[in-house]
Amino acid sequence: EEQNLYAEQKTKELEQAKAELEDYAEKLKQSAQYKTNFLANMSHELRTPLNSILILSQMLSENDSKSLSQEEVGYAKVIHSSGNDLLALIDDILDLSKIEAGKISLVMDEVSVAEIPELLKLVFDPVAEKKGLDFRIELQKDLPPIMQTDGQRLQQILKNLLSNAFKFTETGSVTLKLHRADPAAVSARMPDACAENMLAFSVIDTGIGIPKDKQGLIFEAFQQVDGNTNRIYGGTGLGLSICSEFAQLLGGYIALDSELHKGSTFTLYAPICLPDAQHALRQASME
Ligand code: ADP
Repeated sequence: EEQNLYAEQKTKELEQAKAELEDYAEKLKQSAQYKTNFLANMSHELRTPLNSILILSQMLSENDSKSLSQEEVGYAKVIHSSGNDLLALIDDILDLSKIEAGKISLVMDEVSVAEIPELLKLVFDPVAEKKGLDFRIELQKDLPPIMQTDGQRLQQILKNLLSNAFKFTETGSVTLKLHRADPAAVSARMPDACAENMLAFSVIDTGIGIPKDKQGLIFEAFQQVDGNTNRIYGGTGLGLSICSEFAQLLGGYIALDSELHKGSTFTLYAPICLPDAQHALRQASME
């Protein structure tokens, strides 16, 4: 009799604990949603005043009326460039919150493979020249002429990897190499992927490199090798986490190979053709 009562009591306690846990999980889910909405709204609200700051500081720094002193024009330029940094940060936070909320939709299209590095050369040739670095493009022979992907997002990932490469390299070169993926490497990371269908974009630098124990960490949001103290390089620590989320959305991933004081290679793997299932879906929705 006593044992029965005890068991009944314990069952009740367990049920209560289970209900409390479920309640807690529901609250967690809700607060994650609040956070996402809050970030999305904040980012949007911050952009409007920032746009005025950017436009007006640009006008001041052009000094068309010649009424400002050299020093004042300098201040206006600082305002403009800090405003641009802030805008980049807001864009990153907005991207990340959209990814977390599953609100990013890809725009899949046929993209010319040869055009991808051409556009990037336009952006990064001046950067390379300014830092006295070599910017090289290497194209493996017989690359596919076309890939089915979200060209804009692909460019965004490569721009981010390249700007990091230039940021963390003082001498030598930055190379963007387009090549077919090594099937063994792909199947080790994505066992279900068709390795022949993957194109690889390697961004190779001769920069400061990344210590082994930090190589996994830097793909997480707000993580930087030089941490919060003794910061030498600017940045937010959001770039790589956004890149790796986008890479996954595109159906691929980013791999890192780096040696301290020697340099780093970040490789984006992305499918050349949409998987059949997706392709069929797309066909169906177009009909
Ligand atoms: P951010 O560059 O804004 O700090 P990222 O997420 O792009 O943010 O990068 C996170 C960190 O990873 C950087 O702060 C840096 O410590 C390290 N890192 C990224 N790319 C490189 C690179 N090419 N060489 C050396 N370190 C790098």
